[in-house]
Amino acid sequence: MVEQPKPPSLNPLPAREAVRLAAASSLSLALSLGFCDLIASILRDHPRAFQSLAAVLLPLSMSIPAFVLLFLPIFLLVALLPGRALQVRKGPILMALATSLGTCLVLILYFNLVNPHPTAMQFRLLTLTAFLALALGVLRYFMLRRSWEGPGVPAEITATLLSLPLIMGIGFLFIRAQNFRTAPGSGSRALLWNLIAVATLAAGGLVSIFLSRRIHVERWLGAAAALLIVSGLASILLGGAGPKASPDSGGKSRAVRRILFLSIDTLRADAVSALNPSAPPTPNLDSLAADSVVFTRAYSPAPWTLPTFSTMMTGVTPLVHGVRKFEDRIPQALPTLAERMSQAGYLTAAIGDQLFLHPQHGISRGFQSYELSPRDEYGGSVGSRILGWAFPARFKRALDTTEITDLAVSWLKQHAHDDFFLWLHYFKPHGPYEPLPQYRPKEDPPAGMGYKFSSDNAIRAGSLVITAEQRPWVRELYEGELRYVDDNVGRVLAELKRLGIYDDMLIVFVSDHGEEFWDHDARAHGHTFYDELLRVPLIIKLPGAGLREKRGELVCTGSLFPTLLDFAAIPREDGSISYAPLTPLLGGAGAPYQEVPVLSAVPLYFEDRESIVLGDTKYIVSLVTNREQLYDLKNDPREQRNLATEPSDTLLQARQALEAARQSSDTLRKRYGIREEAAAPLSPETLEQLRSLGYVR
Ligand SMILES: [Zn+2]
Repeated sequence: MVEQPKPPSLNPLPAREAVRLAAASSLSLALSLGFCDLIASILRDHPRAFQSLAAVLLPLSMSIPAFVLLFLPIFLLVALLPGRALQVRKGPILMALATSLGTCLVLILYFNLVNPHPTAMQFRLLTLTAFLALALGVLRYFMLRRSWEGPGVPAEITATLLSLPLIMGIGFLFIRAQNFRTAPGSGSRALLWNLIAVATLAAGGLVSIFLSRRIHVERWLGAAAALLIVSGLASILLGGAGPKASPDSGGKSRAVRRILFLSIDTLRADAVSALNPSAPPTPNLDSLAADSVVFTRAYSPAPWTLPTFSTMMTGVTPLVHGVRKFEDRIPQALPTLAERMSQAGYLTAAIGDQLFLHPQHGISRGFQSYELSPRDEYGGSVGSRILGWAFPARFKRALDTTEITDLAVSWLKQHAHDDFFLWLHYFKPHGPYEPLPQYRPKEDPPAGMGYKFSSDNAIRAGSLVITAEQRPWVRELYEGELRYVDDNVGRVLAELKRLGIYDDMLIVFVSDHGEEFWDHDARAHGHTFYDELLRVPLIIKLPGAGLREKRGELVCTGSLFPTLLDFAAIPREDGSISYAPLTPLLGGAGAPYQEVPVLSAVPLYFEDRESIVLGDTKYIVSLVTNREQLYDLKNDPREQRNLATEPSDTLLQARQALEAARQSSDTLRKRYGIREEAAAPLSPETLEQLRSLGYVR
């Protein structure tokens, strides 16, 4: 007779013990992965996330229960499965399962593979991740099968379950501290975080080894999870992370108590029917215009968002603030409009969506609440995504047009009785154009086109040509997006009227730049100084029975800074800014308005250029090739005939005007002691967004 081989010397794991092990492993995994989620987010997305304790606890309070819900049923299923053969291997199987699932999720979080429609690359990574996780699980099983000999759960297993979340938590603190050391203005706090991390690591390591034999691991892990979840939820309930603030403005008398600064991105002046009767109707903007002073010749100081708003918010030319690239930041020396308003007791708030208006550019300075998405104080973690899904108004990372309006309306309801300065910014009709079905053009798209247009990168690269037959369609999609924003503006205006504050409000409506539709054989914005990009709508509704008229004077949107300060009766120093207030044109007292040439600068694409508009003349010069252009805007409004080829007095005057504008910018720059600012590096996530919006390739 041949002797049968001996069965493995494993002890069966009692059902009760198995269930406790299942609970402990799912809690340990959920806690560890909660921290992993934050680590992945901080490494991948943004070093500026997680500034406050609430910003750490809130995502954790969402991700930990989500991971427990995911793991616990799987582990319990294995723990409760009957079967003799399984019984003796239950412990190793549970641990192998934990290893597999944990590895898989760590990699998925790190590579940000949580995507309902993965790309080919992401799909390959997912497959690789699954195989790696499976292999590690199998390896773990065979290792444990050999060593799991005594009754019950070995002490090193419980020690691992206890220490894993601790290591991950401390790891997160370290990485956060390291990242903050490189972020501006956070040096001393980083050191504090490091010290806390070292102390916790030392104490925690010893304690978990000591405790592993003496305590019920699952209860301790459960208590830790409950504590994190409860404190996270408490910070929502206590409003620790939400926008708040109530200025002590009671009793003060002001010229204007409430100011709405309404901006719509990428809106060329001739797309608003109040400014161009042949444009498709924008009834809500028109109704505002009917109650306002409408400037028919307003120019932008730059052809793209960041330098333009930097100028509007500081009152100095782009040559003074020097914000000319994606990474640039408004110099600290320049006071912002919101700062001045806030110091004067106004409640300052910003609501909207625009990647370039991220706080990293210093544009949020002075706003007591800054809700300009994409918001990343919570990072792009799974926890923060659940948070955004559960509480969209407070935590959703990027807001669409309707959500912006919802947020603005609820903000206005809450603060209708405060003195406020609210900046409301709509990103649309910025591309990609993809109007909702009810805003689409009535006719069918031409051949080769659909209801979405997002091809500006390819057009700029020269790899795609939009034919003359297709071009009007692109403009129609843009106008569809604009009708959507116009309806949303209508909702905001209706709410102001319903609240009874519309009449006495000062409302400024402006755009940052226009948009080209092959006016000069190109597309989008940022690339030229022609009127389709520089001319923007500028409409100012005065409080009470103020003026209602059209003004044809040449003005720059940079004038909004002193104009708003004047209306708020906030004093400003002489010679501290580049622009004169528009108050004389708005029925205000004082000297008559003096037209000043408008300088525009810092293009986003191609060689560096500058332009100046004086009277009816525009002069554009390349700072690289010195190529000059001169246009007579009155007789050649489409800027087709370059007059700079012949010497003329106008050309000389234009050159001098530009030189004078440079000089005065230089004087201001010296006055503020502005030098090249250290640019903040762009995060990979921001670069990805820039790519998807067609800014970079
Ligand atoms: Zn813009």
